[in-house]
Amino acid sequence: MSCTILDGKKLATKCEDFIKSEVQVLISQGVTPCLATILVGDDPASATYVKMKQNTCARVGMQSKAITLPSTTTTQELLETIDKLNKDKNIHGILLQHPVPSQIDERAAFDSIDISKDVDGVTSRGFGLMSMGVNAFGSCTPFGIMRLLEEYKIDLTGKNALVIGRSPILGKPMAQMLLNKNATVTIAHSKTEELARHVKTADLIVGAVGVPKLIKLDWIKQNAVVIDAGYHPAEKCGDIELEGIENVASAFTPVPGGVGPMTINTLILQTLQAAQQL
Ligand code: NAP
Repeated sequence: MSCTILDGKKLATKCEDFIKSEVQVLISQGVTPCLATILVGDDPASATYVKMKQNTCARVGMQSKAITLPSTTTTQELLETIDKLNKDKNIHGILLQHPVPSQIDERAAFDSIDISKDVDGVTSRGFGLMSMGVNAFGSCTPFGIMRLLEEYKIDLTGKNALVIGRSPILGKPMAQMLLNKNATVTIAHSKTEELARHVKTADLIVGAVGVPKLIKLDWIKQNAVVIDAGYHPAEKCGDIELEGIENVASAFTPVPGGVGPMTINTLILQTLQAAQQL
């Protein structure tokens, strides 16, 4: 049985070349795409993610504007910062790094981002539009996964898809995107009983739980498509036990090099599209 590696790194690299040339076209027309990044607090992992996003902007010739706010920032202060960026004609996309400190109403902050600049796909309105099949920027990790599935021509019609995790930025939009492509979708979460039984009948599994190797290899159905959105640097693994997966799955995303590169690539692609829409 052959097993396909869904190579997110390769696709992201290929797409970066495309983005780079499109950015040059925009610059020649007097528009330099610019992503504003907002980092609240001093969480080192969040700082690293923001840095990676800024570095990717630089690689493709885009600008980025870094805004760093102290960990004591209030919801009101954050809303005022976002409001200024919404009104700034030189900013095409806004990224608010998740998570924000607990005193901040993160949903209110996300929802205050202008829909035309919601390149990270985090607003409730964007989620609603996407769910209805209307064009909107997708939440970057699930949309990156959909782009990867499309690149490898994985047909989802009628397939039993299981999304494990129901977070607003990952599990929930993932389930809607799969549904829009005619999969039959089940969403599992921390209260789900008999998770293994659900996994055993799934043709496509998305692990999005944040628990290292929670999903075991021997639960996975022969020929299933396996997507691991988790990444745990300390354990060097994702949410799915991938040792020996090539003997079970028809296709899988490696960790690292699968879902991760597609997330940032989708953010940058959507920033380009936001600048093109002006
Ligand atoms: P999250 O907000 O913590 O959500 C985790 C979800 O998993 C929740 O819905 C939770 O259920 C569910 N869950 C937790 N333990 C479970 C269990 N034992 N059985 C079944 N479901 C369980 O996490 P997230 O932001 O969605 O991220 C999930 C994973 O994706 C993490 O590993 C994260 O690092 C990774 N991630 C990767 C990228 C990337 O670019 N590659 C981007 C974002 C996230 P309840 O709702 O019931 O609590």
